[in-house]
This record gives sequence, C-alpha cells and structure tokens, in this order.
Amino acid sequence: MSSENMKSVTVVGSGTMGNGIAHVFAQYGYQVAMCDVKQEFLDRALNTIRGNLDRQLKKGAITEEQKALILGRVHPTLDLPGASQTAHIVIEAATENETVKKQLFRNIDKFAPASCIIASNTSSISITELAAVTSRPDRVVGMHFMNPVPVMKLVEVIRGLATSNETFLAVKSLAESLDKVPVEVNDYPGFVSNRVLLPMLNEAMYCVMEGVATPEAIDTVMKLGMNHPMGPLTLADFIGLDVCLSIMEVLYKGLGVSKYRPCPLLKKMVAAGHLGRKTGKGFYSYTAGS
Ligand code: NAD
Repeated sequence: MSSENMKSVTVVGSGTMGNGIAHVFAQYGYQVAMCDVKQEFLDRALNTIRGNLDRQLKKGAITEEQKALILGRVHPTLDLPGASQTAHIVIEAATENETVKKQLFRNIDKFAPASCIIASNTSSISITELAAVTSRPDRVVGMHFMNPVPVMKLVEVIRGLATSNETFLAVKSLAESLDKVPVEVNDYPGFVSNRVLLPMLNEAMYCVMEGVATPEAIDTVMKLGMNHPMGPLTLADFIGLDVCLSIMEVLYKGLGVSKYRPCPLLKKMVAAGHLGRKTGKGFYSYTAGS
C-alpha cells in the first residue's frame, strides 16, 4: 500500500507518545482512531491534545476553525479489534514492554486487513521479533517518533529483517507527509538514536557517581561546551530514569559489551523510585509547576 492510500490511521496507546502521534496525523488531515485500555486514559489524552492545540492557537500557528477540525479527526476508542479492521496502518505506541507489545501485535494481526502495515514506536524492542509473531513480517516496521511529537522533526524508520522495500518506502513517505524527516535505520538494539544518546547519559551518571562533578556542573559543561540544548542529566530526568535503565539494559543484553553496562547509581535511583520529573525527584528535584 502506498502512503497516498493510507488515510485511516490507528494509534494504539494514548500516553505521551500516542496522543502526540494522533495529534500530528489529525493535523495533517488523517482520520485517527486512538486506542487505549481505559476511558480515563483516552480522556486524559484528548485533554492533552486540546491543550497542545490551544498553545498552537495562541502562537497563531492554527485557527480556531482548524483546531476544531483537527480534534474532530481524532476518534478515541477502547475497541482495538474494531479500530484495526478499518486501518490502513496501525501504529503501536503502548507501554515499553515486550510481552505487552507481542500480544498487541498478535491481536492487531488477527483483525487488521491483510494489506495493513503494522508499525511500532518502540524505543528499543526488536522490530524483527515483533514482526515474527505476525503473519505479515514484511508489513511490520519501526516508526520511531521523538518526544514531543508535534515539535520534533525526526522519525527513525526501522527496517526489521523481513520488512519489505514497499513497506519501508510507504512509511518513509507517510512520515514526509507529516512534514517530518524520516531516517532509515536497521534493526539493532537501540537503533541509532538511543544507541548514541543513552550511553552519553549513562556516562554522565558515572561522572556523578564517581564525584567527578555535580549534576549542575556536568549539565553546564555539555550545554555551554558542546552546545547541547539540554544537559544530559536534565534530559535523563525528562525521559524518566526507569526508561533510561530499561534502554541501557536492552543495549547491554543485546550487544553484550561492557561499555553499555547501566550505571549502578542509575539502578539505585530507579530502585528508590527516584524516576526524574514524573516522580518529582531524579538528579534534580521538581515541585509542581517547576
Ligand atoms: P506511556 O506510558 O505514556 O503510554 C503508554 C500507553 O499505552 C498508556 O496509556 C497505556 O494505558 C497504553 N497501553 C498499554 N497497554 C495497552 C494495550 N494493550 N492496548 C492499548 N493501550 C495500551 O508511554 P510512552 O512514553 O507514550 O511510550 C510509548 C511507546 O513509545 C514506548 O514503546 C516507548 O518506548 C516509545 N517512545 C517513548 C518516548 C518518550 O520520550 N516517552 C520517545 C520515543 C518512543
């Protein structure tokens, strides 16, 4: 199926990434079914999209009329089979858990039309393995958006071992139709983005652990010395330290090289429930509204 024929999109998972993906597709004229497991999650996602559209409205990027049209294209649903039956592409953006994703891929494969492409927004789980639980591994691909989706230009398009050229090209031009920049990547642990980024964050954590410098000092070095917009420890808190740990574990397990060993301080902080911004405490402390 070519990208011009892909007008009906189903996004599975309406969390941080799922609602951002639904927002962007709706903004570019696609009808989007947004699927989750609880009504309250869907309500929260719609509120987030509404809030983000209000911000675009205030900036003059969209009109009140466009806001209503965009919201009207997002269709929240708890019915995954129903939402899969009519989809041209299903983009899975559910919780980063291999068992959850494999079960979802089996279900989507059961209900989606044979021509439907199934994409995953996973940060680290193997596309080849997800494809292997379906009857259409040639039509499974990685479509890795960055957070926040409405703002960030990059989409890593990940070819699993069996992904066909046709699928890859369709998803590449689909990303372009959203005004994103797709980059072709092969399926290896962490793809490119996380394989390069996470070891840097992990190394910054070793610097804290070994007393090389304070988090503030490390972030200042990287911001002012390397022109990074955000220091590595601020970024780790933003991503979530549990997410950072799970990606490092995927790199360490998948590549088997000691340079990917998760920093013991990171493990300790996750064990203590200091997960960064979302829990109010990580390498920095956060209060409501900070
Ligand atoms: P999140 O926890 O904010 O949202 C996940 C959502 O999936 C939740 O609303 C949850 O209820 C839903 N879900 C779980 N099981 C489901 C099921 N069986 N059916 C339907 N919905 C289900 O997570 P997130 O940060 O949005 O991450 C989603 C995916 O995107 C993950 O694979 C993650 O690795 C990837 N990702 C995250 C980021 C990021 O910065 N957060 C960036 C790039 C990619």
